[in-house]
Amino acid sequence: MALVNKVLVIGGGIGGMCAAIMLRRQGIEVDLVEVNPQWAPDGAGITISGPSLRSLREIGVVDEVLRRGGSWTAVDICDANGQLSMTVPTASAIGAEDLPGGAGIMRTVLADILGNATQNAGANVRLGVSFEKIEQDENEVEVLFTDGSLGRYDLVIGADGVNSAVRKLVMPGFEGPKFTGQGSWRAVVPRLRENSTIYMGKTTKAGMNPISATECYLFVLDKREGMDFLAPEQWPHMLAGLLEEFGGAIGEFRAGLIDGSLGNHRVLYRPLAGHMIPAPWHKGRIVLLGDAVHATTPHLASGAGIAVEGAIVLAEELQRRHSLEGALTAYAGRHYDRARLVVSASNRMGQLEQQGGSREEHTRVMIEAQQALRLPL
Ligand SMILES: Cc1cc2nc3c(=O)[nH]c(=O)nc-3n(C[C@H](O)[C@H](O)[C@H](O)COP(=O)(O)OP(=O)(O)OC[C@H]3O[C@@H](n4cnc5c(N)ncnc54)[C@H](O)[C@@H]3O)c2cc1C
Repeated sequence: MALVNKVLVIGGGIGGMCAAIMLRRQGIEVDLVEVNPQWAPDGAGITISGPSLRSLREIGVVDEVLRRGGSWTAVDICDANGQLSMTVPTASAIGAEDLPGGAGIMRTVLADILGNATQNAGANVRLGVSFEKIEQDENEVEVLFTDGSLGRYDLVIGADGVNSAVRKLVMPGFEGPKFTGQGSWRAVVPRLRENSTIYMGKTTKAGMNPISATECYLFVLDKREGMDFLAPEQWPHMLAGLLEEFGGAIGEFRAGLIDGSLGNHRVLYRPLAGHMIPAPWHKGRIVLLGDAVHATTPHLASGAGIAVEGAIVLAEELQRRHSLEGALTAYAGRHYDRARLVVSASNRMGQLEQQGGSREEHTRVMIEAQQALRLPL
């Protein structure tokens, strides 16, 4: 007999959609509510590592992600003026050697692919809806929604991101994510190279990862004092300031940012915050998934991948255990170490960048984590 017959997923981000798809595959009835009426995340690019591609194959969307995104099999390391110093091959994940070592895509395109897959899987999706009240006893969870409707479920999955509201019910004492000391800048630019490219400035490192056949996204992290609000109209000029030490393609892009001649590059700024919350990740019949329990900085480009992995592991454990308590405990137990590796290695890389620390340690932390993540789940 199935442990659960009817599940509510709160949050239609990458983790929530993948959980809905995996549970529908087991014939479980799934409702998904997403507070955003548009179902559209910010207009930035996202990098999908080899292990994340392997997980997206399990979800059933990797071919479309590769078709609509951009991919690469090597990283070009260039100087600040774009002169190539070396090319490092990007290894695929173990068990996914036929897939590229890395890919990129616009978040909106990935959301479109996963959203269609969620609906095609037969999940009942409601946009612009959240929960008002959740109460549980040992047999079920009763949910009052913001549209006034009421639902009863065997399990509620809180996949509502870094500032999760569901988390307040599971871990009322948790103080919230912590600012990591850096901000992230991203912009969409023309694709000039086949490979992923890192440009090494004296103090700043900028990257460009393909997100389609014709476009890349540029990413830079800076050191900041706090999470102060920065007015969006200042973002292009602030990003131009950060790119001062670069010439070549980045220099040209920078000039375009200053005089506005290169059109809309969809420049985005976001201060970085994160956490790694110890298990248990559930209370009774409510369980947390993805950034709600492990939110990371983008240093390893694996936060979304680890949310997909969490969805796969949760669905597998619900299918093979004999009690709900056992399944939810096993999910966190199996998934915890890989999530912690992503969060802690990313944090260490961020600290080294802020302190001007050892480049050798930075590279070692990154390579060791990437190798560990290539191993099967
Ligand atoms: C600047 C930056 C760059 C990043 N780059 C990468 C990268 O290149 N590669 C990578 O793998 N990872 C990257 N990450 C990490 C990645 O974005 C996250 O780990 C991933 O999005 C987590 O997915 P999630 O589904 O857990 O949460 P989210 O993607 O945050 O989704 C949560 C969803 O829940 C919805 N929601 C929130 N509250 C409610 C509510 N009360 N009711 C209903 N719905 C609600 C939200 O609208 C949202 O749709 C990056 C993160 C940052 C901050």
